[in-house]
Amino acid sequence: MKILNGDLSKKDIENWLRETDPKKLSILWDTADALRLKYVGNTVHFRGLLEISNHCIRKCTYCGINSAFQTIPRYRMSKEEVMAGVYNIAELGYGTVVMQAGEDYGLTREFIADIIQSIKIHTSLAVTLSLGERPHEDLLAWKKAGADRYLLRFETSAQNLYRLIHPSLGAAEPLLQRFHILKKLRDLGYEIGSGVMIGIPGQTYQVLANDIDHFRALDLDMVGVGPYIASPETALGRGLIEIPDVGNEQVPANELMTYKAVALARLVCPQANIPSTTALATINRVDGRELGLKRGANIVMPNITPTKYREQYTIYPNKAGINESALACATAIRHRIEKLGREAGSGAGGRSRDGSMP
Ligand code: SAH
Repeated sequence: MKILNGDLSKKDIENWLRETDPKKLSILWDTADALRLKYVGNTVHFRGLLEISNHCIRKCTYCGINSAFQTIPRYRMSKEEVMAGVYNIAELGYGTVVMQAGEDYGLTREFIADIIQSIKIHTSLAVTLSLGERPHEDLLAWKKAGADRYLLRFETSAQNLYRLIHPSLGAAEPLLQRFHILKKLRDLGYEIGSGVMIGIPGQTYQVLANDIDHFRALDLDMVGVGPYIASPETALGRGLIEIPDVGNEQVPANELMTYKAVALARLVCPQANIPSTTALATINRVDGRELGLKRGANIVMPNITPTKYREQYTIYPNKAGINESALACATAIRHRIEKLGREAGSGAGGRSRDGSMP
């Protein structure tokens, strides 16, 4: 089976996703690890994650904080709370803050722009945003304020499936809105990140291969893939969404499949920053994070959200590290990285296009 990026066809990607022979899979792991070393080096970069609000206007059927849940407690961090987290991240020696939230227009354009400016004045952190499908004017204002990167997973490239898991807000909303926004973000000068969940109901091997092919076509700077973890209260988690039955073609939402997707993401986007995700660490608490890092990933995103809010940002249940303090989490992750023979990074760790290490 072909393995090199330029040669890897969609069919090759699909065949790798179906591969079960451990000997053959070790070729995939080794190739992904070698490409990781060649293009992004031995450093594992840290991104401090702040989940700044769990308000959301969307009704994504996979997500545990979607607006259909009218009774769950909602929070929105104040500027002071966000900045306390930001200083915490800088003190821990991380190079990037990631501000993530539901799609919450209570986080106004001005409020976020003001926070970005303060971060840039008071720290040397890179700023990554993950705030959903915001209008052009917001994205522009935040770029002007100093934001560096934006994460927006397209969730699936299968359009009919997308509408079932991500209902539109109105008839006027284009089906391909997330792809349009990713292009806009690129044009505005952001580094762009996207990705999908592995094993979402209705996701076939062919669909996932097509998703991975899209990572390459979009020339993503960051790729995030993690297993789908059914959120028991959601419509998708409760089996209330009529997903067409795909029988044996359904991609399993398991650990092995996630490693394959991480490794293939490295093959198609060799220069990208690829996290070993919390969702992966959630389904294998023992060494999920390490195995992700050994099979193509080069980033970890410790959660710095204050513990009282973390338990309300339940996009899926039993998230790894939910009760760990930022410091305990940082120390444990550093230890794991050193045990792997990798270095813990301290800089911003942006994408490098010229082959020099970030
Ligand atoms: N509101 C933002 C951030 C969403 S949370 C946005 O929509 O972009 C970040 C990611 O978590 C989502 O893009 C989704 O891929 C993932 N996620 C959500 N629910 C999940 C679940 N039940 N299992 C696994 N991953 C999930």
